Amino acid sequence: MASDTGWLKDYIRDIPDFPKPGVTFKDITPLLADAAAFARAVDALCESFADLGVDKVLGIEARGFIVAAPVAYRLGAGFVPVRKGGKLPWQVEKQEYALEYGTDRLEIHRDAVSPGERAIIVDDVMATGGTAAAAVRLVEALGATVAGMGFVLELGFLGGRSRLRGQDPVALVSYGAPSEPVAAARGRGE
Ligand code: AMP
Repeated sequence: MASDTGWLKDYIRDIPDFPKPGVTFKDITPLLADAAAFARAVDALCESFADLGVDKVLGIEARGFIVAAPVAYRLGAGFVPVRKGGKLPWQVEKQEYALEYGTDRLEIHRDAVSPGERAIIVDDVMATGGTAAAAVRLVEALGATVAGMGFVLELGFLGGRSRLRGQDPVALVSYGAPSEPVAAARGRGE
């Protein structure tokens, strides 16, 4: 984790019991709405990836799009949307991943990354890591390499990193370090 990004927590709002009871939703809209803070967050993510020779930046639907697109622009890389099942109009590669109850599906256009390309995966939140792990499988199924992964925040106590073995995800801030109460729980929302 970058060491000087603790200020970001001032721009991330906890919404208790959203989208369901017991879940604390991490709302990044205050960060997005502040021009200077959003730019600093994007710059901080780009620092980690500047020297990786990135060809494509994948953003995960939906808030991942918002963060990944300016990262792609700054890195001089292409942007690729990774979407929930049934949303992309052309031929897709699919990966299912486990939810608390049931499964969900992520898809990517088959020509979105090419064999040998270097891609990074960007989302707002790493919780259990299941979504990001499915995105890794999509990239690898198309013959490309995951060169990095970036998140605005990580719910560290959910152990997402253990699902992303072989990767070294960058999270600008982490919640649930040993000194903090485990107040948030896994959640999803669009
Ligand atoms: P996971 O697959 O458990 O790592 O969940 C990550 C995905 O779910 C990301 O796309 C997040 O946007 C969303 N998500 C999970 N938990 C939260 C939370 N507490 N607050 C906001 N978004 C979340």
